[in-house]
Amino acid sequence: MPTITTKPSYWATGRPKGNLPKAFDPALVRADFPLLRQKMRGCPLAYLDNAATSQKPQAVLATLTRYYTHLNANIHRGVYKLSADATAAYEAAREKAAHFIGATTAQEIVFVRGATEAINLVAASWGGMNLGPDDEIIVSEMEHHSNIVPWQLLGRRTGARIRVLPFSDAGDLKLEELDRLFSPRTKLLAVTQVSNVLGTLNPVAEIAAQAHAHGALLLVDAAQSAPHIPVRVRELCCDFLALSGHKMCGPTGIGVLWARAELLGAMDPWQGGGDMIRTVTFAESTWNDTPHKFEAGTPPIAEAVGLGAAVDYLTSLGMEAIQRYEDELVQYLLEKLHGVPGLRIIGTPRQRVAVTSFVMDGVHPHDIGTILDSAGVAIRTGHHCCQPVMEHYHVPATARVSLAFYNNRQDIDQLAAALKTVKEVFG
Ligand code: PMP
Repeated sequence: MPTITTKPSYWATGRPKGNLPKAFDPALVRADFPLLRQKMRGCPLAYLDNAATSQKPQAVLATLTRYYTHLNANIHRGVYKLSADATAAYEAAREKAAHFIGATTAQEIVFVRGATEAINLVAASWGGMNLGPDDEIIVSEMEHHSNIVPWQLLGRRTGARIRVLPFSDAGDLKLEELDRLFSPRTKLLAVTQVSNVLGTLNPVAEIAAQAHAHGALLLVDAAQSAPHIPVRVRELCCDFLALSGHKMCGPTGIGVLWARAELLGAMDPWQGGGDMIRTVTFAESTWNDTPHKFEAGTPPIAEAVGLGAAVDYLTSLGMEAIQRYEDELVQYLLEKLHGVPGLRIIGTPRQRVAVTSFVMDGVHPHDIGTILDSAGVAIRTGHHCCQPVMEHYHVPATARVSLAFYNNRQDIDQLAAALKTVKEVFG
């Protein structure tokens, strides 16, 4: 018998039944991740590229297997039980995602491929309907390309312009510049909650207050915050929020766009196809209810169900506990990096979450990454899809270490030892 929850089990009570946070035990948690048991190049694997994607716990792997073994059918269409059960599992995942980010209702959750698609959806639909020539969108200088390029594409179609909120060399947004940047034509401010290069945690609620005072909406890119800290849309006071399932222990190909119900209700669909319509004639078509009008075609059903399992798993650990553990681990990481001669950390933000970038005198970041790889240490090197951040610091690339709650001090010790080898090789 399938054991996947096929009915929204906790929406009414506001808590996942049988999934209450337990004491956070790093050793037990790590054992939940089969991939981390393997050796890499003859060494224990120190996986420190979590900002790119997270590993998956057994609970998510088992849910995917159970889904395809017992439940697989297309959704929202079949009159037979299997289809009804698959539909219920998919919609239960929506309820879980809604609960995880504190949405008012599951109708505010649109399943998308990831944060990139969520932002493109807002740009195409809301942006296309609400922006005209000379309207303005403010984005920060530390945005991922996926929170820059969709607005540039929108600008090409509508004549809207982008204005840039800069950050200091420490890696903190210069909020004092906002007054200068807002104008009566500002329609939207789009900002990341956590920088995927600097680790900066931005004061989103404060930014939201300023945006709203100027009559603009706020879009939050939560791709790098949702895996690490509690994210509650009502506390952030934002209007749109985007996240990626694969960065928070879920499968690839699934993410969430959250938007206030009245905004989604007023937005046109952005893609046409099956499931997003109510009626179709050759003369005209009418749309399904929110959120289905934004989910044209067969959606990533198994991936959504897998994301639901990831959300259950994170909830069972407790996002507050995850944040506390990672805060300690990131301090340990910084101490160790400070001890490596010739290593320069990029940015010293006031509040940092899970991520730090660095460069080393006379060594290209790609060479750092290659030498670390030979010691079983996986980090990311390059521009991290943030070329404006590279430009800010006048570097072509950085090395980036990004943590997750299943990392431990041994991973960081292994990194520090491998960095000493880099120093020896390059003198
Ligand atoms: N925003 C940020 C801050 C990111 O770090 C990333 C992924 N690196 C994205 C957006 C895009 O996420 P995805 O590729 O999952 O759509």
